[in-house]
Amino acid sequence: MNKLDTKLKSILLCGCLSLASITQVIAKPVVIAHRGAPAYLPEHTLESTTLAHALDPDFIEQDLVLSKDGIPVVLHDIHLETVTDVEEKFPARKRKDNRWYAIDFTLAELKTLTVHERTNADGTQVFPDRYQGKEHFTIGTFEEHIGLIKNLNREFGRDIGFYPEIKAPAFHRQEGQDISSIVLTILRKHGLDNPNANIYVQCFDFNETKRLRNELGAKVKLVQLIAENDWGESPTDYDYLKSEAGMKDIAKVAQGIGPWIPQLAQLGESGVEITDLAALAKKNKLAIHPYTHRLDQLPEGVTSDQLLGLLFGRVGVDGIFSDFPDKAKRFVDKSVRLH
Ligand code: CA
Repeated sequence: MNKLDTKLKSILLCGCLSLASITQVIAKPVVIAHRGAPAYLPEHTLESTTLAHALDPDFIEQDLVLSKDGIPVVLHDIHLETVTDVEEKFPARKRKDNRWYAIDFTLAELKTLTVHERTNADGTQVFPDRYQGKEHFTIGTFEEHIGLIKNLNREFGRDIGFYPEIKAPAFHRQEGQDISSIVLTILRKHGLDNPNANIYVQCFDFNETKRLRNELGAKVKLVQLIAENDWGESPTDYDYLKSEAGMKDIAKVAQGIGPWIPQLAQLGESGVEITDLAALAKKNKLAIHPYTHRLDQLPEGVTSDQLLGLLFGRVGVDGIFSDFPDKAKRFVDKSVRLH
């Protein structure tokens, strides 16, 4: 019996087995503050990032889209109206599809917008129990977020990493902009295009992940995000990426995958069904960082700790994107204390 088996056996025998306890037998998973700390403050604002930093995750995420003048700003969508008051400030600037696009506005214009909690088309909050105020939060640039995190790291003696996502590269190209090249230039300026830097760069578009590595010469660790084909997220065939051959292809250019939680484990009436995705990723030495842990959007009948225990324990993921980085971190720390 090897050391790992002994440890597992001792956990089983002492009667304290929970899915959580298995976690530290394997490795300490990382907590990625998904869009800052959106459980408590509007996503991706500098305030949300500041709070996320105080909650001490391993990484803080920045989703990136470009302004009209080619500056990467931290926003989840290429559209603006779901998280800002653009429709009140610039009513005439919508496109024919009735949507307002970040790329149609200069940075100076984007800076005049107020960021609010994410809303549905009827104006109600997507997550009603989250931040309900109307304070003047604003859009931040990628470089502002880098500067903020670097300074907070220095002041608090921490080393919280960056986790930028290049959003919709095909859309940006269609609009005449090369978002990947612009983001890489900024990473290089800040010494972050380095395999040893505390950063992962993620993208849903597999052609772009390959382009980053092979054509643009990115040295930084890359994570291939995995969607479902019917989401229309990018031209990528995600059914192929999830296959044995697809995983092998990912491993040629990236260090990890970012799957959707249900792609790893499905909770049905007959219990938990683990897919082969995690095993395929591990076979190809890819880190697994699934999205998204949300206390206000848990699978029915499942607690936050049960979900994290399942992912860290039985599935064996290496990290988690969480809207509640404090809760995910507390779970990881509790598991460390237990063993
Ligand atoms: Ca993201």
